[in-house]
Amino acid sequence: MSLGNAKRTANRERRRELREQLTPENEVLKDRKLINEEVKRRLVSGVQTTALEYDTLFNYEKASLNKDFDLLSLLFQRMFFYRLNEKLSGLTCDHTFRLSNLILTQMQFSRGKMNEILEVFKKNGGTCDCEIIYNVERLLIGN
Ligand SMILES: [Zn+2]
Repeated sequence: MSLGNAKRTANRERRRELREQLTPENEVLKDRKLINEEVKRRLVSGVQTTALEYDTLFNYEKASLNKDFDLLSLLFQRMFFYRLNEKLSGLTCDHTFRLSNLILTQMQFSRGKMNEILEVFKKNGGTCDCEIIYNVERLLIGN
């Protein structure tokens, strides 16, 4: 092997290493318990300490088209929709904001802020807990 080849091989190795470090799969949490802790931390205090697989669902280009982008992206990052999905799973929606109110209370929003958030949900087709998932979370994720 010529010196040039060896150098190229070394460079390729280095690039591969860098790429592996950057791959989201290596960064996101896989452990259930650690995921739950991160979700709770974000919900309650808004502090994000690590990446979650859920974060990769966020579609910035799509979400930023919405007039209420700031509020909706904050709620996404603080795991509101994630938690609502969890709470709704296995339940039949009673077509109220019961679960949303529970979660928003846990997030320590004031009554006024909660009303503002519910108005934004309604404006975007989120007229109850399940409609928030169907119509509002959908504005932020996927293609
Ligand atoms: Zn519903």
